[in-house]
Amino acid sequence: MTITTNAGDLDRRLLMDRSVTGRKAFTVPESDVPAQELPDSSLLRDDVELPEVSQLDVIRYFSVLSQLNFSIDTNFYPLGSCTMKYNPKINDELANLPGLAEIHPLQPEETVQGAIRLLKALQDDLGEITGLPGVSLAPLAGAQGEYAGLLIARAYHDARNDDKRTVAIVPDSAHGTNPASASMAGLDVVTVRSDAQGNVDVENLKELASSNTAVFMLTIPSTLGLFEPNILEITTIIHNAGGLVYADGANLNALLGLVKLGDLGVDICHSNLHKTFSTPHGGGGPGSGPVMVTDELAKYLPKPVAEKADAGYLLASPEQSIGTINGFHGSFSIAARAYAYIKALGLEGLQSVSENAIISANYIQAKLRDKYDLAADRYCMHETVLSATRQKKRGVAGIDIAKRLLDFGIHAPTMYFPLIVDEALMVEPTESESKETLDHFIAVMRQIDDEIDSNPAVILEAPHDLPVTRLDEATAARKPVLRWAPAE
Ligand SMILES: *Cc1c(COP(=O)(O)O)cnc(C)c1O
Repeated sequence: MTITTNAGDLDRRLLMDRSVTGRKAFTVPESDVPAQELPDSSLLRDDVELPEVSQLDVIRYFSVLSQLNFSIDTNFYPLGSCTMKYNPKINDELANLPGLAEIHPLQPEETVQGAIRLLKALQDDLGEITGLPGVSLAPLAGAQGEYAGLLIARAYHDARNDDKRTVAIVPDSAHGTNPASASMAGLDVVTVRSDAQGNVDVENLKELASSNTAVFMLTIPSTLGLFEPNILEITTIIHNAGGLVYADGANLNALLGLVKLGDLGVDICHSNLHKTFSTPHGGGGPGSGPVMVTDELAKYLPKPVAEKADAGYLLASPEQSIGTINGFHGSFSIAARAYAYIKALGLEGLQSVSENAIISANYIQAKLRDKYDLAADRYCMHETVLSATRQKKRGVAGIDIAKRLLDFGIHAPTMYFPLIVDEALMVEPTESESKETLDHFIAVMRQIDDEIDSNPAVILEAPHDLPVTRLDEATAARKPVLRWAPAE
């Protein structure tokens, strides 16, 4: 038998494949409690196969597993619209302080005054940042913030007995959750077109705005990464028609300290704390999508809303609240991280977050525009949407480019979104990446474009060096391997 040298290789066997009969990861002292009969012994199974492994096997297995994935702590992760940026670790530490992490939502309010005060302070900061002073931190995700905001719009029209307002006008460039939330909130969705520059087609909007308009929903920046230059005209058109304006501010890291949504005529917005404010979005962890409204609409906010009273801080229910939209008080630990992040940066720091996010995206756009088409030929905000149409004509599609990037240690951009752009590659570099990282990404994207002519197979067969290489997507979807089976 020959032993080969492979010191750099990780042991990638599954835990079951490391199992050795009789090996254990624990020892429990002999019980001094008399054994009891189980009430129903038929509930017991002895045919469940579990791995028999040592503690070190378990530690190595999970340590290796954690390195098989791309993460923001190991790789550049320009996943558009997800804001995969550096989130300071100190904010995790602060959110894990026992006074914040070990409290219970059913504790009497007088025993959690600090926590409620934190919620109130965060509400105030978000009100200031967006220019919309009524804030509820209850929603658990961006989409739930949208849903709450739309129920608020409905409650507002209902309170005036204006029951003909059943339509939500949504641009074709909106984030996909917008029409979905509108429909869940019981509104009929009507689409307004984008014009050739990617802006809302104002003439089309004028035709659509009417006495049945409940709300107009604007994703800002749009999913093309663009600011809407006609926003003041747009909010006026909607208000003149008697409707409300909803802004999807999930990607607030393009606007911090630069513009307040409330100043633009927006009545309701939400924002994603798990994008802009120190919690990553990709990966599907817990989220928080606070909803912000004008003073006039604050009485409809979902409960609870933190308030300061004479006797201290309390969790209140607004007068005509749309009610509870989930258990308890929203994602408290995400709110604690966001609060720490905002306080550490201060107003100037927040503004430089957005300025740097915008400069980084425009830098990439400027350095790649001779090779890749742009979804819109103008300055972008915090992300740039490229299109691989030129590459596709030469035999390599957006998905192939995304796979090839993995070989260079770069996570794929968001692909094939927004839907109105052919072969879309949505790149969000974020403010936290260095110029060296951006230059590396640019060089790799240019090299991939060159490879189309010199060696297309290297792109079409990518990725080459990852634990999982090119998947057969059809088989993966039709015959997924979901559980371990012993090797035959
Ligand atoms: C991420 C995002 C959402 C949805 O947020 P979730 O927390 O995933 O529900 C909505 N709108 C925009 C513009 C987004 O980028």
